[in-house]
Amino acid sequence: MDYEQLLDRAFTKFSGISEEKVDFKIPVADSLVQGSKTILKNIAQIADTARRSKEEIGKYLTKELAAPVSIDAQGLNIGAKVNANSLNEKIRKYFEMYVICKECHKPDTHIQGVERGYITIVCEACGARYTVKNY
Ligand SMILES: [Zn+2]
Repeated sequence: MDYEQLLDRAFTKFSGISEEKVDFKIPVADSLVQGSKTILKNIAQIADTARRSKEEIGKYLTKELAAPVSIDAQGLNIGAKVNANSLNEKIRKYFEMYVICKECHKPDTHIQGVERGYITIVCEACGARYTVKNY
């Protein structure tokens, strides 16, 4: 590969990343109340967008909704009736608190560690590193 090709490649890669950030939207919950339970059907999509595991988001929702949560083929099962509005509010809060960088407002963060009730979040876009209270 010559120098020109390398430049092309670097440029393509760079513009791809920028577009992705501009298009970022907090996902909307696709949920269904079944009897005394609520199923969050698009947990996989929410987890992918947040770049967190389904279990991690389940842990947060357990705490926020004060209800047991389990994951199966249907999605995330919440052991309580939760309407779509309150579920979306919790998800939005999760992204604002734990996913979107406090410094540059991009969603490119990961959890570095959890210690003494605090989560350390690192932003891959701007390098910011900060702690937030654990759920
Ligand atoms: Zn950042």
